[in-house]
Amino acid sequence: MKITNPLLGTFNTPFGVPPFAEIATEDYKQAFNAGINAHKVEIEKITSNPKGPDFHNTIEAIEYSGKLLQQTDLIFENILSSETNDTLQQIAQEQAPVLSDHWDNILMNSKLFKRIENVYQQRSKLKLNTEQSMLLEKTHQKFVRGGAKLSISDKFKLKEINAKLSVLSLQFGDNVLADNNAFELFITDKNDLAGLPESVIDAAVETAKEKEKSEGWVFNLNRPSLIPFLQYAQNRELRRKMFLGYYQRGSNKNNNDNKVILKQMVNFRLEKARLLGFNTYSDFVLDETMAKNPEAVFKLLGQISPAVTELAKKEKERLQEISNRENDNIEIEPWDWWYYTEKLRKEKYDLNEAELRSYFPLESVLKGLFNVLNKLYGISFKPNKDVPVYQKDVTVYEVHEADGILTGIIYMDFFPRPTKQGGAWMTAYREQHLENGKNVIPVISVNFNFTSPTKNKPALLSLEEVETLFHECGHAIHGLFSQCRYESLAGTEVPRDFVEMPSQILENWASEPEVLKSYALDYKSGNPIPDELIKKMEASSKFNLGFNLTEYLAASYLDMDWHNLTLPFMGDVNDFEREAMKKIHQVHEIFPRYRSTFFNHIFSGGYASGYYSYVWSEVIDTDAFQAFKETSLFDKTTATRFRKEILSKGGTEDPMKLFKNFRGRGPKTDAYLKKKGLT
Ligand SMILES: [Zn+2]
Repeated sequence: MKITNPLLGTFNTPFGVPPFAEIATEDYKQAFNAGINAHKVEIEKITSNPKGPDFHNTIEAIEYSGKLLQQTDLIFENILSSETNDTLQQIAQEQAPVLSDHWDNILMNSKLFKRIENVYQQRSKLKLNTEQSMLLEKTHQKFVRGGAKLSISDKFKLKEINAKLSVLSLQFGDNVLADNNAFELFITDKNDLAGLPESVIDAAVETAKEKEKSEGWVFNLNRPSLIPFLQYAQNRELRRKMFLGYYQRGSNKNNNDNKVILKQMVNFRLEKARLLGFNTYSDFVLDETMAKNPEAVFKLLGQISPAVTELAKKEKERLQEISNRENDNIEIEPWDWWYYTEKLRKEKYDLNEAELRSYFPLESVLKGLFNVLNKLYGISFKPNKDVPVYQKDVTVYEVHEADGILTGIIYMDFFPRPTKQGGAWMTAYREQHLENGKNVIPVISVNFNFTSPTKNKPALLSLEEVETLFHECGHAIHGLFSQCRYESLAGTEVPRDFVEMPSQILENWASEPEVLKSYALDYKSGNPIPDELIKKMEASSKFNLGFNLTEYLAASYLDMDWHNLTLPFMGDVNDFEREAMKKIHQVHEIFPRYRSTFFNHIFSGGYASGYYSYVWSEVIDTDAFQAFKETSLFDKTTATRFRKEILSKGGTEDPMKLFKNFRGRGPKTDAYLKKKGLT
């Protein structure tokens, strides 16, 4: 029998990473309890301190409290996303209201807030440095936004709302995963495979075996299976099945579907915003972002939207032409878009996505990425097989500075599994911070759902997957390069509409010709990608942009609309979605990238009223990337400045100030509009 809970002791592992092999699912429950109790004692110690409140005994003391709980929570959340099971999901459901209540009790603790308010009122006299001032500012803001100033009865209402929201958002995500896993397209007739590339067929054979079928091919809704199917399958009816399978996720259960859940969520969110003195939930969320208010977001979306719609309309006409020419005798429908787009890509640029993949074996792309980071920042990645992992396919790297000093640890988890959420994301098991003046290195994690290797082929990525790898690793170095004192301000702890900047800027290097030549190597011959193919890629870089931006903007508007309600929503979710799309004159063949019922970003992640952040950040990162374009792609001085002024600073200063320190001026939209061909 196990006597000790590994989550409660010191981690006796390399670099103090979580001891995954020793943690049993049941250990989390006990660790959550212990963490909550320890945190309560720490808070009680702060409030009962006989000495008057000051920065150290109140603001810093709050920052340093709750570490056991935080550690447990970070490990639990990561495993829940990457290697879940029924018991973990059940524990999450049980813990959500308990944790919500615990945090509410702290944020609404009037004795504690009195001390914070006292320090806050003296702030101009305290001689705090920039980072300390920010900690004070953000702590005060967090408590006010958490309900510290509300009346007792309103506090009670807010607690109820928070508890319900915490459970609903988990159920939402669980439903999406369940629907995603429940769908399969089982093909037994070889004719139904017509048009599909060999590698996609091979993967479908393996999926069929995993599903214990004695014969046939299985396709599922993970992107590596879904997208090639939509691109290449000649059987239109089956494309339609796959498409609808994907776009109807979250609305397949009658009483417990995500339509019911999200209706409750938007109404609770509105009620919460109102309690806290805001007109809409969007106003509440945006108050602490760069955008500041919904008007600014709508303004940016509105600047881009009309030109994008025009582009998408033209794209649709081209697709219809191809279809007519091939005598397919159809009106283009949403499930036809990918298919005819691939034909057009081939025709216009003589570029075949499947062919391009041969040059992107994961191993080479990874080397290319490491090389880029080495040239920019002098860092290197060293695999370490002794670090415990939570799943056998996960790889761990030590990241070292040019002088050998260890910067941090990074876990990389590449392929889809039924136990893993869809999409790609970066998180941390431990953020960089100072402990008693000593630097504690960060432990970062990146997750993907890339095309898996098959019996005959290594993992061959699409260009989109290559960019995703660079994107998430951009977040990762934001976490790794952090040089902050306080964990709550470290690394990616920045406003939501700034956080995509360090990630998106790194994507730019992936498609630069000189970089491509170094890593895009044919998996069979090892030959670098030919210049001719690079030229085709460049020529086609704006290809299908109308579609991509339309589905993105549609999702952004949908998110904004759900969170700009001023009255409780009683209507029909599908009608609401249709109205939202009508308003932006969307091309009806293009669905929003995420429909409401599987929009995890906004209903089970932290992006409510925040999906616009990608384009907001892109305006900024495109401008920042010009600093490299104006010097050179690997200009050391520019890279060092970017690292120092932005990547190392975390959330210790206002992002606009960080940007200006780097660029010498505020961000301009020109570079973005030019890049997208929207001027
Ligand atoms: Zn991102």
